[in-house]
Amino acid sequence: MSNNSFKTLDKQWDYIPKEVIFCKNCVVSNQRPRTTFNSDGICSACQWALEKDTKIDWEKREHELQILCDKFRSRNGSFDIVVPGSGGKDSAFVAHQLKYRYKMNPLCVTWSPFEFTEIGWKNLNEFVNSGFTNILGQPDGKIHKKLTKLAFELKGDAWEPFAYGQKAWAFHIATKFNIKLIMYGENGELEYGGSEKYKNLCKEGPEEWEHEYYKGASVDDLINKGLEKKIFSKEEVKEKTFELYKPPHPEEILKSGAEMHWYSYYNKWTPQENYYYAYKYTGFRTNPRGRSEGTYTKYVSLDDKLDGIHWYQSYAKFGMGRSSRDAQTDIRRGHITRDEGIALVEKYDGEIPKRDLKFFLNYVDISEEKFWDVIDKYREISNVWKKVNGKWVMNYLPKRTSNF
Ligand SMILES: [Zn+2]
Repeated sequence: MSNNSFKTLDKQWDYIPKEVIFCKNCVVSNQRPRTTFNSDGICSACQWALEKDTKIDWEKREHELQILCDKFRSRNGSFDIVVPGSGGKDSAFVAHQLKYRYKMNPLCVTWSPFEFTEIGWKNLNEFVNSGFTNILGQPDGKIHKKLTKLAFELKGDAWEPFAYGQKAWAFHIATKFNIKLIMYGENGELEYGGSEKYKNLCKEGPEEWEHEYYKGASVDDLINKGLEKKIFSKEEVKEKTFELYKPPHPEEILKSGAEMHWYSYYNKWTPQENYYYAYKYTGFRTNPRGRSEGTYTKYVSLDDKLDGIHWYQSYAKFGMGRSSRDAQTDIRRGHITRDEGIALVEKYDGEIPKRDLKFFLNYVDISEEKFWDVIDKYREISNVWKKVNGKWVMNYLPKRTSNF
């Protein structure tokens, strides 16, 4: 396949503006899919961050959560709420709050990372040992590796097979155990920029699940491509092979009466505070190796050996990697200034995640040459990279307002 004929399966690509614009308050650009800006040039996530501090009546929302919990609370000691997570700071915070503050009986569920990091595995065990039941879902490794390889190349995001399962696993468990309430952590589209459709809503309806998980059908696209490329054999792809990568059919969900809510609707979402909380109550610890590759933080997203590749691919496609994401969040919560954030982006965003890369090449069994070939294909169709004297140069970085 020549570079010119390269076509990604990432459908978001068609809607990304050619002209790159950065938020005036943080370091996100309009290359992040679905992010919108107001007339002052402020991104939707920054506007929401301000509203969280000034407009939202959090006491009222907490009251709503109490009513919700009262409605679904079990009277006989059975599990009454599914909390998906990894034992990381955010899900640990949510599960602990629901159990001890709202007196619910959570059944926690983890869709396994590609491979646990040492600290990720330790944190999950500490979390379970602090008083939680957890169901760990591990998909067929052979199939998972093949899907990952396809997603890396065709979607520009090796991480996607994890994302499919992460969403679906909670629904499968809720349906099997007849639990009607599922509590996710944050509404990512709202917190990090994206669709504002659910801005003032506590939950997503089943009609959206159909829209998101079936019409998009990204997992089916990958399977079909895998068959085409003979990565999957016909014998491997049976009707039920990929069941856990897709949520139960919307009709089944509607019939079961299950509801999926976001904790970030009811409680002001501040990742740094979740960290302090999880440190205190569920034994969560930061990475003893120090900061994660590609960023300056050491407590964000520590569980998976493949995370670095996910963020590096985002850097190749949109010009924003792991450090950019961490800086965006920290600026919005007032932990750092915009200029400090820009300095951190300049310093860490382009760092090659060497440890994760070594793991990844081995995991999907490709050469490093092939890895860079795919990365370059995405740089070529991106709006942020330029080739200068045979070398790729990042053409767009947010500009500082002072000489920090
Ligand atoms: Zn912003």
